[in-house]
Amino acid sequence: MTTRVHDFNISVAEILGQPGHHRDLHLEAPLNGVGTTLAHLEEKPLRADLRAESVVEGILITGNLEGSTILECARCLKEFRASVDLDVCELFLAPGAEPEDQEAYRISGTDIDLEPMLRDAVTLSLPLNPLCEEDCKGMCARCGRDLNLGACDCTEDTTDPRWAELDALRDRLSG
Ligand SMILES: [Zn+2]
Ligand SMILES: [Zn+2]
Repeated sequence: MTTRVHDFNISVAEILGQPGHHRDLHLEAPLNGVGTTLAHLEEKPLRADLRAESVVEGILITGNLEGSTILECARCLKEFRASVDLDVCELFLAPGAEPEDQEAYRISGTDIDLEPMLRDAVTLSLPLNPLCEEDCKGMCARCGRDLNLGACDCTEDTTDPRWAELDALRDRLSG
């Protein structure tokens, strides 16, 4: 049986301390404010199918997350959407369990707050350099034209290293 939940705080009272027992959860809740400079999760509910499994050390959470992200192309700055689909497998230590790892997720009483773990998992999955297309040509550094739409008149200038040197000099003088 799968329990539908709309809250990141789940109770594991029924299975805690009973290794071998599990609970299946279908979670749908918005996870706001997750993102990096060029990528963030859309403000729509994140969907997760998770199994909470009682093990000797605590509760093991495994399953799959689905959501959608808004990305900004690192080359041309165009916005585009992409889906997130990732698997998680994280142990939540029972209260009183030896803190082998200070960073470990923990069960508080008989409750698990899934939000920090989901936040970490999504953040780590976001691309550092999103590209709208593998071969996105980017923007002209001089005139700002989207080079995917065709070359601009100053393209040759920017590829000449002597101009780059002059630009750097001018930046230093004006800065
Ligand atoms: Zn692009
Ligand atoms: Zn240009």
